[in-house]
Amino acid sequence: MDADVIIIGSGAGGGTLARALAPTGLSILILERGDYLPREQPNWEAEAVFQKHRYHTQESWQDSQGRPFRPITGYHVGGNTKFYGAAILRRRLTDFAGRQHRDGRTPEWPIRYADLAPYYDIAERWYFAHGQAGLDPTEPPRGGAFPYPPMAHEPYMARLVEQLVGLGLHPFPLPIALNRDALNPLTSPCIRCATCDGFPCLVHAKGDAEICGIEPALRHPNVRLACNERVIRLETSPSGRQIEKIRTDSTTYTARIVVLAAGAIQSAALLLASADHRAPTGLANRSDQVGRNYLCHINSACLAINPAKTNPTIFQKTIGINDFYDASGDPSYPYPLGHIQNLGKVTPSVLHAQRPHLPYALVRWIARHSVDWWLTTEDLPDPDNRVTLDPKGSIRLSWAPQNLASHERLCSHWRKLLHTLGYPFVFFERMGIEATAHQAGTLVFGGNPQTSVLNPWCQTHDIDNLYVTDASFMPSISAVNPSLTVMANAIRVAEHLKGQFAEGRVP
Ligand SMILES: Cc1cc2nc3c(=O)[nH]c(=O)nc-3n(C[C@H](O)[C@H](O)[C@H](O)COP(=O)(O)OP(=O)(O)OC[C@H]3O[C@@H](n4cnc5c(N)ncnc54)[C@H](O)[C@@H]3O)c2cc1C
Ligand code: SF4
Repeated sequence: MDADVIIIGSGAGGGTLARALAPTGLSILILERGDYLPREQPNWEAEAVFQKHRYHTQESWQDSQGRPFRPITGYHVGGNTKFYGAAILRRRLTDFAGRQHRDGRTPEWPIRYADLAPYYDIAERWYFAHGQAGLDPTEPPRGGAFPYPPMAHEPYMARLVEQLVGLGLHPFPLPIALNRDALNPLTSPCIRCATCDGFPCLVHAKGDAEICGIEPALRHPNVRLACNERVIRLETSPSGRQIEKIRTDSTTYTARIVVLAAGAIQSAALLLASADHRAPTGLANRSDQVGRNYLCHINSACLAINPAKTNPTIFQKTIGINDFYDASGDPSYPYPLGHIQNLGKVTPSVLHAQRPHLPYALVRWIARHSVDWWLTTEDLPDPDNRVTLDPKGSIRLSWAPQNLASHERLCSHWRKLLHTLGYPFVFFERMGIEATAHQAGTLVFGGNPQTSVLNPWCQTHDIDNLYVTDASFMPSISAVNPSLTVMANAIRVAEHLKGQFAEGRVP
């Protein structure tokens, strides 16, 4: 055996699991297809990140019609958290029971909020969660205060909070994962820059899975990381109940326990690519559920422009709004609409990188007068929204977002409120299939092996030594950002694995 535990992928699910298992002394090997993301000036250059896609994969995937697209994702130590906006929210209590939306019902989870709550506490500590309890009307119960105080609003945003409160809303400081020492701004690792959301952090102050998962794990001598090791196939024992070999581009590994944490799309693709004569439709796929129920938030970016006022905010991602999370506020439409939070400040260079055809003077004017938002509505599971492989083995992603009517309502409601607040020009852009940032589903957990791929401990029903800890385990995605739940669940699964090893249940 090369290790007691091999973890495939070093992002939110894999990196956090590695940290949680590291103190056990078990030998742990992390196989990561990418390398460390280089620390270099272009980390904070919009043109490099958004226009030239310096850190994104060059791969071409296909949609359900076979049309090619370039997914906006990358392969690095720390996974997609290297680029994340670091908004880390807990799922709401109501997200664990089935929830009725206008276009369908989400499934009930096999665990409750209380099962995850202690691990949310740990994940918030590990990932430097800054926030303030008691202001978000949908906030689930929590053991105590956030580990760190909220990121302060800059004056323009503080005034906006007052205006939102004046409209009867309940804005709250967005929980955010940054290593910011507010008492010592001169020595604080985080400098509150404008290049955070979507950018890697040049000064390593973002609470990402490299800094908060992999790096602390590697301080333990029993943990190793192998970069540039892309896993291409898993092979099972003659019984089909054990993973016997993990094949990468260059070699083969063996382990007592294998944990798949390659991200919702890649993990499903790997199981499909590992089909053999015992499992002709893919490993762990007796339910025919591998790759199905792909979920991706319905997200829109929103720029609200007040021509009479400039917005000098630098670090803008400080406001969250959940007033429409559980209900629309309109009795004739008794359905959830979703969540609203700030985007990182849209600067002239960010806008120019994304809209290079617009004259720079116009771009600069828009960015100076805009306040920027991110609206999220829950996507609903649909078995036809799925990951499959084309005959050459490349990824085909079929995704027709569900629940669009509620998202449009959220956007139009928000537009009206922004008009009231003095923003006559409000623009929305809905994210398309290439925006795979909030990918989830595809290997869902559940009690029934006929309808789920994983059991409630995220062990595959079909293969005893194969677990999954990335975002694919989620049967519903809620309307809050997914990472904290992936991290908390990875710590929960680590506790289970510790028990399995301690009780001698791992062959
Ligand atoms: C621009 C952007 C902004 C975001 N903002 C937020 C936010 O503010 N809040 C939030 O909660 N979430 C945010 N997200 C989403 C968040 O990053 C993901 O939810 C999270 O990273 C998912 O964790 P994961 O473990 O499932 O996958 P990942 O973190 O993507 O990790 C998967 C890892 O597996 C590796 N891998 C893939 N295939 C293989 C293979 N075959 N062999 C070996 N290794 C492999 C990858 O390189 C990667 O390191 C954002 C994402 C992006 C891209
Ligand atoms: S705001 Fe802080 S954590 Fe984010 S990129 Fe800038 S320095 Fe890094």
